[in-house]
Amino acid sequence: MDKKPVESTPLLEVKNLQTAFSINDSWHNAVDDVSFQVGRKRIVGVVGESGCGKSTAGRTILRLLEPTSGKIIFDGKDITEAKGTSLRKIRQDFQMVFQDPYASLNPMQMVGDVISEPIRNFTGKSTNQLKSEVMNLLTKVGLPEDAYYKYPHEFSGGQRQRIGIARALALRPKLIIADEPVSALDVSVQSQVLNLLKELQQEFDLTFLFIAHDLSVVRHMSDRIGVMYLGGLVEIADKKSLYAEPLHPYTQALVSAIPEPDPRKKKQRIILQGDVPSPIDPPKGCAFHPRCIHAMAECSQTKPALKEVRPGHQVACHLYNS
Ligand code: SF4
Repeated sequence: MDKKPVESTPLLEVKNLQTAFSINDSWHNAVDDVSFQVGRKRIVGVVGESGCGKSTAGRTILRLLEPTSGKIIFDGKDITEAKGTSLRKIRQDFQMVFQDPYASLNPMQMVGDVISEPIRNFTGKSTNQLKSEVMNLLTKVGLPEDAYYKYPHEFSGGQRQRIGIARALALRPKLIIADEPVSALDVSVQSQVLNLLKELQQEFDLTFLFIAHDLSVVRHMSDRIGVMYLGGLVEIADKKSLYAEPLHPYTQALVSAIPEPDPRKKKQRIILQGDVPSPIDPPKGCAFHPRCIHAMAECSQTKPALKEVRPGHQVACHLYNS
């Protein structure tokens, strides 16, 4: 029997999220009116070029950055303005795996201490209890138990990311936000770490928000995928629909750039014109219009809203106004 929980009870709901920064005395939206849901025990990927706001969105959801407006609902609770003890309590349930395993580990701490620190801080468990839990976590992420007594510099990049993953798992969170977790790793190691994350997702019933610039990596991991461009979510759909029938011209260009493994199949690549405009001063109307081959008069005037044009498939583009 399919025990997959119903998508109608999401673990995470983001509604009209906006994160703005003040630059030279004026406000600029790094995340602009982003809304989506992540179902329990599902993996939602967020993809887009660097500077599109995907990492800022992830950090805002974890409340590492303050949202300017909008709502973040986690496990049925509005956590947008949670502070102090209630924020600390919620933080046990969501964790982050960072892009750079080198920078996110304290070089002066033994790996055992790195992993046990969150458990000690939140639960006050004894050293003996902690030790057996940490040994268990090391095994789960594919590291030997004697890694406990070593320091981060004694490990390779892939192994350090495994240490970061063990630390993220230490409090048995419900949600993990993984921000480019393999982009700093050698290609040969990337798939091992991605497969590990997938195994752990099953074993620990985790929900993932998986942020990456590489569409192939996101495809490997995700059930559903959102595409961001200059701070806005331009399309979101289940993985199959997004790759088989991308609707937004930007997504169509991204999908066309994925190499086709079968050399007999010919694929026409859409080359995008121009560079990504500055997120500090995005174009009016549809932010993609200066690069879009389908741009119409209204595209430079009116920002298209994200709307469902097929079941479960939402897109923000005037081509689908009806
Ligand atoms: Fe292109 Fe217009 Fe659609 Fe934007 S709204 S993606 S400019 S067609």
